[in-house]
Formats: sequence, C-alpha cells, structure tokens
Amino acid sequence: MNRQYTHKGRGQEKPVFPRKKLSFLAVMLILIGIAAGTAAIALILSRGNSAEKLFSYQQLLMDTDVSLQLYSGSSREAEEVKEDLFKEMSRLELLLSCTESSSEVTIINRAAGEGPVQVGPETAEVIEKAIHYARLSEGAFDPTIGPLLDIWGFRGEANRVPEPVEIEAAAALVDYSLMENDYAAGKVFLPSSGMALDLGGIAKGYIVDRGLELLARSGIGHALLNAGGDIGILGPKPDGSPWRIGVKHPRRDDELIAVISWLKKGAVVTSGDYERFFEEDGERYHHILDPRTGYPARNLLSATVVAPTAIEADALSTALFVMGPQRGLELVESLPGVEAILVTPQLELLISSGLQDCVELPGES
Ligand code: ADP
Ligand code: MG
Repeated sequence: MNRQYTHKGRGQEKPVFPRKKLSFLAVMLILIGIAAGTAAIALILSRGNSAEKLFSYQQLLMDTDVSLQLYSGSSREAEEVKEDLFKEMSRLELLLSCTESSSEVTIINRAAGEGPVQVGPETAEVIEKAIHYARLSEGAFDPTIGPLLDIWGFRGEANRVPEPVEIEAAAALVDYSLMENDYAAGKVFLPSSGMALDLGGIAKGYIVDRGLELLARSGIGHALLNAGGDIGILGPKPDGSPWRIGVKHPRRDDELIAVISWLKKGAVVTSGDYERFFEEDGERYHHILDPRTGYPARNLLSATVVAPTAIEADALSTALFVMGPQRGLELVESLPGVEAILVTPQLELLISSGLQDCVELPGES
C-alpha cells in the first residue's frame, strides 16, 4: 500500500509527507529520544564509575601477606567489604589449615587409620578438587604429602635433611589413591595411620576464589586479591583497562622476569623454590616435594599458571613445579584456558603457546 495523501491548498496541490513517512519520523524521533536518554544515563553511570576510588588493604592470613585492591564509590563500603572478606578468608583458613589444632584437616589427620571423618561442604570440595589435580598430574600434586613435609620440618618442626630411610618410610605413606572419600556425604578417610593431608598447595587458591565471590556478591566489580602470590582478579579496572601482574625473578629480589598486562579476570599463581627454603652444606632445600623421590623437586625454579580460577592455577602451579618443563607444558597445552610461564634452573623461560606473544619480558628490552 503506497497511497499518497495530499493537502489541497489554494489552487495548488502541495504534496505533504505521506502518513507512513510521518509515523516513521515519529518513531525515529522517539528512538532518538530514547537513545539520547540512554546515553545520558550511560554518561551518569560512567561518571559514577570513574568516581570509584582505589582502596588498598593488607592483612596477615594463611601465613602470608594478603593484599586487596578494590575500587568503590565510598570508603565506608570499601571498609565494610574488606572486613567481611578478611573474616571469611580466615574462617576458611581455620577449616583447611593443617597446623590449626581444631581444623577439619587436623581432625581428618588425627583419625588416620581409625575411621572416616565427617567434614563440611567446603573441606569436602577442596579435597575432591585436590584429588582431581592429583589424578590429572599423575601424582606430582599429592594432597597426602603431609608425612614427607613433616620429616623435612616444613610443618612446624625445625627444618632438617632427613635420613634416606626416613624419606623412604614417609614416602610410602604418601598416596592420594588410597583415600576413601564420599564427597556427597562429606566423609573423608585416610586408611593408614601415619598418613596426613596437607592442602597447602591448593587451599590458598580456593580461598582466593571464595574471596572474589564474596566481593562480587557485595557489589564490587573491580578488584585484585593477592594471597602471597596467589592472585585472583575480579573484572578490569573501572576504565576497562587490565591489571598488570608481575612474575618475580626467582633469583633476583625485587626484579620481575615477566609481566602479564592484559588480564581482566581469572587468576595467576606462582610456585617457586625461593619462598620457603633452608640451606644445608650450600644446598637449597625448599617446600615443594616430589612425592616419588621424597626430595624437593629440582626441575624448575618457578612455575606460574594463568587459569580461569585460582584453585586451578594454585594446584597446577604446584603440580607443574614437580612435573618439570616437558611434562608440565604438555599438561598445560591439554587444558583449555590454562597457560604457564616456567623458569628452568638455567633461568630459561618456557612459555605456553597461548601466552607466547602477550607476555612482556623486562629482561629483554
Ligand atoms: P606457596 O604455598 O608457597 O604459594 P604452593 O602453592 O606451590 O606454594 O604450595 C606449596 C605447598 O604445597 C607446600 O608448603 C606444601 O604445603 C604443599 N606441597 C608440597 N609439595 C606438594 C606436592 N607435591 N603436592 C601437593 N602439595 C604439596
Ligand atoms: Mg599451589
């Protein structure tokens, strides 16, 4: 239908806008109005965002410095959220710590060889994930590493190099596949006395993830949470730009070996031989043990993992550290969304395929 209406003027027929065009114009005007309104709202919102200020906090938790950077429109909101966050993180630490006498992990360890222990959903979840990464890494990551950590003095006792017979005896007690767990029922069992769980290689990552969840629930959209090298990111900075995350040089204090400067969400976790170690007769002995040999793993100086969640990055960084360059990179390449930067004892950098062109190498400028 393309009927034209005309307005009859004096002696002259003057075409006017066809009605269809009129209604089209009206619709356009309304749309322009809506668009202008939306743009105004967007402007107000973006003004609101750019008015968000950066708040930084620090707290000693999980035996390490935990730092939080968050953007918020009000200092009161930031303070409240920070209080809630650190409270929640320390609640989870008290469940998962292997040195706290009342933690669920300690209760499981005390009942080794005796009977299953009923635990809460959080502990069951971390143990289930730990066993998953133990399988994935073919035992390089093993949450039943406790007896070996004990004889090396990495869990309270003084550090010392144990005798080979002690190492052999402790290593015989390390085997995640022996655990008898029913995760749905929350029942966990170490079947031989002397076995001991240690979630030090995964719990921090889990707690960082739970921390980010709490921040998101509290309405925070832009934050970085760093638990001694376990970094979780909640959204980009308010202007949409990514966070810059430095990877420490494993041998030069205060120097970076690589910088990741494009992350807007996800996690970056590093395991290194330089955080907790002792020296005897000129030899360095550190806290990440190879369950097969019973000795500190020697194939790498550090393993950094980028992954969607901090629990994944944490477990995998410990696993890769033990697996070494070749097996480690093979595993990373098989996992979607996971990348790694490994530093060999010769200070060579090995970078997984997805990171090749997007890591800054400060030493190479
Ligand atoms: P950090 O705790 O220094 O950030 P990691 O995430 O690599 O570094 O965790 C190291 C901790 O993991 C050790 O302190 C110990 O509690 C535990 N651990 C050591 N060796 C292993 C292993 N082979 N598998 C699982 N956990 C381990
Ligand atoms: Mg770890």
